[in-house]
Amino acid sequence: MKKSILLACILYLFNVFFPVLFYSKREIVKIEEKNEQEIAEEKTEDKAENLEKNAYDANITFKVKVGEKVEEMSMDEYLPGVLAAEMPASFPEEALRAQAVAARSFILYRIAHPATDGVHDDAALCTTPSHCKGYVNILDPQTAQSLFGAAADIYVEKLCRAVSDTDGEVMIYDGAPILAAFHAISGGMTENACDVWGGNVSYLTSVESPGEEVAEKFRSVVEYDIATYRDKLATLCDGNALGDNAMEYIQNIERSEAGGIISATVGGTVVKGSALRTALELNSTDFTVELVDDTIIRISVTGYGHGVGMSQYGARAMALEGAGYEEILTHYYTGAVLSKIDENLVVIQKEM
Ligand SMILES: [Zn+2]
Repeated sequence: MKKSILLACILYLFNVFFPVLFYSKREIVKIEEKNEQEIAEEKTEDKAENLEKNAYDANITFKVKVGEKVEEMSMDEYLPGVLAAEMPASFPEEALRAQAVAARSFILYRIAHPATDGVHDDAALCTTPSHCKGYVNILDPQTAQSLFGAAADIYVEKLCRAVSDTDGEVMIYDGAPILAAFHAISGGMTENACDVWGGNVSYLTSVESPGEEVAEKFRSVVEYDIATYRDKLATLCDGNALGDNAMEYIQNIERSEAGGIISATVGGTVVKGSALRTALELNSTDFTVELVDDTIIRISVTGYGHGVGMSQYGARAMALEGAGYEEILTHYYTGAVLSKIDENLVVIQKEM
């Protein structure tokens, strides 16, 4: 009797417990296989979704001079790198989207209005910030790592998303992409393009730009001894004409409504504010000069950059207040509208 109970138990183990074990193992293998298959499907879906997301940008290609090399790139390959070079990746997403649209608009404007100074060879753009726009290849993991450190994956994804979320979107005026100028900090009000560069561009007019005071470089101070100050200004005029009083080296200052110096007279020569900024190595043309202890010239500067178009810290402030990227862009580019451009660079009016 005991034997038959024991045998029953053994049979039970073989019939019930072991098959459960085997079944479980088969199930695990099956689940693993399923997971691999699912992952593969998800990857394909992601890729398709990404391609779909970048349907416009992926088909817009042009040549970029990177260092001494000319590379053919598509907009979705190039733009994240421009974004990384031109705006802190830590900025709010709506500010980054505004920046993506502004940079895309500038790139297309540049393609339509090629540089004539021969700097690019046959490329449409270069990576010199003062000539075209800055660029860092963040799609290269090592470059991204050195730029963003531990946050590399998060920031690269964030910048690429700002580009794909605005795929093909540009600011247009009179049916064409605009010269979407931008700068870091306006100092509270942006400049008219005509006050800075001379030409009147109707969508680059002065607008208020509050909330920038938090920026580290909102105000800056530069100090020179009088001899150095004189030497720097002497690059703009006949140095002998500067006179003896350092506080009178710069005269007849004409300022814009935003505060930047439009022009001034230096040693009898009329110079632009931008030339003064360059000669004195200042963050902007919005500055005042004072004499300290009869020996030091202290220059107090407000803002950072040329002050025309979108202020990046202003865009950040608007985004933090809840503005979307379209609201930010239409605020800074007066009269321009958000639109989409297809792979043939034909503007498609966006349905609002
Ligand atoms: Zn260039």
